[in-house]
Amino acid sequence: MHELAVTENILAIALDQARAAKAIRVVRISLALGEFSGLTDESISLYFDALSENSIAANATLKFRYLPARLACHNCGKLYLASDPSWRCPVCHSQSAELVSGHECYVESIEVE
Ligand SMILES: [Zn+2]
Repeated sequence: MHELAVTENILAIALDQARAAKAIRVVRISLALGEFSGLTDESISLYFDALSENSIAANATLKFRYLPARLACHNCGKLYLASDPSWRCPVCHSQSAELVSGHECYVESIEVE
């Protein structure tokens, strides 16, 4: 359900941009997906194909870029990538950290013609 809403939003943005540019077709949409967004490129692509049918965005290529999750250590304030599943701070080894990015999903760019 979450993915459907996100994809509807992506399509609405693409169609708005295309209208503003007086385009006849949306060729490509580049998306940024946070590692912890809970969204996958397969499901967004599936929903997109269904939703964009009969619109000028039908058959547009979706390009995905994954954004790594970043953490801020509660103890020393260090910012680091959540590459280690234990989320251990590389500086002070504290395991108390806050996710500062990685939940995003947004349209980076749209190509129209
Ligand atoms: Zn730390």
